[in-house]
Amino acid sequence: MSAGLYALGRRAIASHSPLASSIALRIIEREGNAIDAAVAVSLLLNALEPGWSGLGGGGFALVYSEDAGFRALDYRETAPLRVRPEEYRGEDDLSLGYRAVATPGTLSGLWTLHQELGEMRWSRIIEAVMEYMRRCQVSRLWNTCMKANLDKSLDKLRICPESRATFLRDGGIYPEGSEITFPRLLEILRNVRDDVNYFYEGEFADELDKVFSSNNGFLSSVDLSRYNPVWRRPIICELDLGGRELRLAAMPPPGSGVLVVEALKILTRMRLDAKSYYPRLARLLLHIIDERCSLICDPSFNNVNIEKLLSDDHVEQALRLIEEGRITYHPVRDSGGTSQVSIADAKSRTYVSLTETIECFMGSGVTVHGVLLNDEMHDFTPQGGHPNSISPSKRPASSMSPLMILDEEGAPLIIIGASGGMRIISSMIQVLSNHLLRGVDPLSSILEGRIHVRSDKVVLEDLIDDVASGTLSSAGLKLGKVREVSMHPGTDIYFGAVQAIFRNDDLFLAISDPRKQPGAAAR
Ligand code: GLU
Repeated sequence: MSAGLYALGRRAIASHSPLASSIALRIIEREGNAIDAAVAVSLLLNALEPGWSGLGGGGFALVYSEDAGFRALDYRETAPLRVRPEEYRGEDDLSLGYRAVATPGTLSGLWTLHQELGEMRWSRIIEAVMEYMRRCQVSRLWNTCMKANLDKSLDKLRICPESRATFLRDGGIYPEGSEITFPRLLEILRNVRDDVNYFYEGEFADELDKVFSSNNGFLSSVDLSRYNPVWRRPIICELDLGGRELRLAAMPPPGSGVLVVEALKILTRMRLDAKSYYPRLARLLLHIIDERCSLICDPSFNNVNIEKLLSDDHVEQALRLIEEGRITYHPVRDSGGTSQVSIADAKSRTYVSLTETIECFMGSGVTVHGVLLNDEMHDFTPQGGHPNSISPSKRPASSMSPLMILDEEGAPLIIIGASGGMRIISSMIQVLSNHLLRGVDPLSSILEGRIHVRSDKVVLEDLIDDVASGTLSSAGLKLGKVREVSMHPGTDIYFGAVQAIFRNDDLFLAISDPRKQPGAAAR
């Protein structure tokens, strides 16, 4: 099994970059806490794994510390003030080029987290990050996804001259292991080390304004100057899971944490025998993804009725529909973006689950001053009249669901999150159900084969055996191409990759999903 899959210690980190995890671990050991380490990983990923998240995107942070309790920070991107929703007609308008870009929130989010909960000096974190960013080596993961032209990455990078210069070598792909430098990104870091306003109100904002107005984009420096992250009330719920009264904290909308909690509630009331497990699970996932697509949205624009979704009535009704096979489904697509970082630090007693994205792999394909920008407009529902329709300043619905579980004594038991579009939700439900309800040990709960849903079909990882897939087809479920998804790098790149920390007595076990690039580190 690959290195970086798991690690045990008093401080533990799981991310999809082994290098970022080990650098962040050193940061906590020297002088920081879990928040400082999370900031470092997030910044490092800009250069070490540039396809999934970065300063050009946004994210959610779920944090727990004994002093502050649970806190949830939403630094999701917002639609530009000048946006004209009627001009988004097809997939490409939403996902490619200048008009696909929503206001980036990552830097403002990291700064806010750090100001309120960090310990190490901001400038020291940035300097430590810059030291490793001066010269980077192209990872196997990034190279594999570029070679596969994941989410049309090559095509979109070729449209923007700065993207071509930054992420391509002579118009082609950087080979695995080759050296790559990010001088303009380093310049940004040097400036925001001293003043984050450089990004939101200073020279970066001015440059972005010029680039966007000369390319007919909607985003402007006004969007950047008005951007603010939002502290939201986390969803807190007590649940009897496998005979234990556990306390769950999840990311509220526009994230999808409520749906992961709802699914666990439904699962606690379901019979989970071997013959019916997969058909029931598949129908549950169809139901949950349908709710993801029809209900989740920015709560400042439309109410998402969390109490109702988690109510006994709603759970019983969903259970009946699942048992009777009367499930509706929603057309969905796979997407290859997002980074998950999970961190536990027993010394400072801070715990973080951070999920960040630039939406599709390589975002919109537009780069400004070394910053690869998101295509988060793609997460809106283009039709008008939907809770998730496009509106100025609105945040698009997200599948991202950082989550934490406390034990009966109130001590952190699991810190978890995932990347991979809608597979974030289905992966987390299965890992948590495996471990908490089916009694599977932490590592096997992540390694076990998973199923996902795509529109009305169930797609299976190749670890799901023929007996299990037989139970799905005999239950009348439509199967997608079997053996489509695999743990072997390069055969499937939509991942659904979980990064989790499980408490193990006084230590923490970091486990990083081998479906992506395992980067667990602990000491
Ligand atoms: N932007 C997506 C979301 O917020 C995630 C993208 C992905 O993981 O592919 O749900």
